[in-house]
Amino acid sequence: MKDLSIFDIFKIGIGPSSSHTMGPWLAANAFRQDLNELKLSHLVSTIQVSLYGSLALTGKGHGTDIALMMGLSGFSIIETNRSDITNSINEINQTHKLALNNENTIIFNPSMNISWEFDNFLDYHSNAMSFSAIDSAGETLIQEYYYSTGGGFIDKGKIREQHDTFFIKGTGKELLDICIRKNINISDEILSREIVNFPQETIDTKISELWETMLSSIYRGISTTGFLPGGLNVKRRAPELNSKLLNGARYSNRAEWLNLIYTGEHSFDLTLQWISAIAIAVNEENADFGKVVTAPTNGAAGVVPAVLFYHLYLSSSPKSKEDIRRYFLVSGAIGILFKENATISAAMGGCQAEIGVSSAMAAAALTELHGGTPAQVMMAAEIAMEHHLGLTCDPIGGLVQIPCIERNSIGAIKAITASKLALASDPSDAKVSLDEVIDSMQKTAKAMHSDYKETSKGGLAITVGITEC
Ligand code: SF4
Repeated sequence: MKDLSIFDIFKIGIGPSSSHTMGPWLAANAFRQDLNELKLSHLVSTIQVSLYGSLALTGKGHGTDIALMMGLSGFSIIETNRSDITNSINEINQTHKLALNNENTIIFNPSMNISWEFDNFLDYHSNAMSFSAIDSAGETLIQEYYYSTGGGFIDKGKIREQHDTFFIKGTGKELLDICIRKNINISDEILSREIVNFPQETIDTKISELWETMLSSIYRGISTTGFLPGGLNVKRRAPELNSKLLNGARYSNRAEWLNLIYTGEHSFDLTLQWISAIAIAVNEENADFGKVVTAPTNGAAGVVPAVLFYHLYLSSSPKSKEDIRRYFLVSGAIGILFKENATISAAMGGCQAEIGVSSAMAAAALTELHGGTPAQVMMAAEIAMEHHLGLTCDPIGGLVQIPCIERNSIGAIKAITASKLALASDPSDAKVSLDEVIDSMQKTAKAMHSDYKETSKGGLAITVGITEC
């Protein structure tokens, strides 16, 4: 039993998907750990994994099989880099052996040991998987079910792990009322709650790590040319966008690059293009198994960093050294509200649950940094989600590339527009509250056909005529 923290929403991990890559990786890690704790590891001869529903339908494109093998091999999703993945997966594919631990190397042939149950949707969640450890006599030693519920969250077994809600009953109104009563900002209130879990120094260190990881993914994204993996032959666009925007200006490291942007021209047109380039850079990295931060998911990992980048390097608004901390506290709090009261899983709610939520998170946080009241912060989140309601998830070829990468640019721009609108408005005139829009999102999620919920069975995924890559 654990309260949700902003650090549950923001997690460092490997792309391309928090639900289809990070979740299965962590589930495989957890299964391996259970085997060790139950002292069964040395008896295991092979492991059979079954993927169900959305995990089966789009798992190939999202690297679910790769994530499972890395997790079963004991790699940490935070510390592993792209070359570790390539080397380990090549070895397993060639030898059909997987090192479960230092003492036991098991038989594991991905084409035999991973079964893809395309038409089998388990009741609790569309992203389900089971692991069975089998001994040399063919007997099952243990079988466990895991569900990847979006944003890198996993639930084990058939009973959902219960979280104590972080916000008492978990509504935006309650959070807003507390801030109004205490006459404080939303970030102050969230900080006071996080301090119960971590000393402030730790909070600051963790937030710095998150922002550093985001900045690194941005810089790698604008520096890496070539094509994304998976067979769609999508060209990385961020480096070209970056060169055009810099118009020949030279730099030799990240600090110089940032300085060029900060001191460069910030017309509306150029600012708009920079925000798109930054969001695209992050999500091209994500699509290429790069290290990113869930915000709240991997597919939507570009929106929150692009909007903070806008504030720090492109906007003329005043800056303070507290801004990065406040931005993560507010955006994380909005992510928790959606996670607690609706969903951040595209397999449950379509893309409104990913890009829509990330846009609401960024809009709210930017609004506080730009001087908005807590009511305007809530209003910004509401506006951003209101205009993502019904957004489907239909990735072509099951890859987190089209429409996902561009969609992060659009989510970031909508977040900034929502923030500007809220800052210019009186929230007491608003007809729709954040809680009502969260409720609408949840109802829309429930009504949405499963073809549009990360199965690649509808929309763009079938209309453009590429179903497999
Ligand atoms: S369409 Fe949206 S929800 Fe679906 S994988 Fe892409 S970014 Fe994620």
